[in-house]
Amino acid sequence: MAHAETSCLCGQVKITAEEINPKFTVCHCQSCRTWGGAPYFAVKCGTKVRIEGEEHIKMYESSTWASRGFCSECGTHLFYKFKATGEYNMSLGLFSNLPELEMEMQYFSDVRPSYYCFANETQEMTTAEIMAYFGKES
Ligand SMILES: [Zn+2]
Ligand SMILES: [Zn+2]
Repeated sequence: MAHAETSCLCGQVKITAEEINPKFTVCHCQSCRTWGGAPYFAVKCGTKVRIEGEEHIKMYESSTWASRGFCSECGTHLFYKFKATGEYNMSLGLFSNLPELEMEMQYFSDVRPSYYCFANETQEMTTAEIMAYFGKES
């Protein structure tokens, strides 16, 4: 588990994550690609997250079980947060220097577009597998 501090582009939002799992996930779902313009690289940060400048964060409820947070000043995409558990999946790109990063999982592999692919060897889950496992999507 790594510990790291970061901020959005404009610096109004500062984030400290105490427990970052270096095995990160890539999500290919259409919601993530619409949100970010590309697949979403997410690191699991659990609930031990401190935020300064929270008043600058705008939350978008992208589903009934999770919201996406971004800086209302500069637009930096910050996290995907689960309502039930309060757990954060932070944007990996926020953190410049995490140790031992490993692409472990790719979500929604069946809707991954044909115009890109990653050479990394990872686990994958399809929409049906995710629905069966989590009982929900994106
Ligand atoms: Zn900002
Ligand atoms: Zn997604």
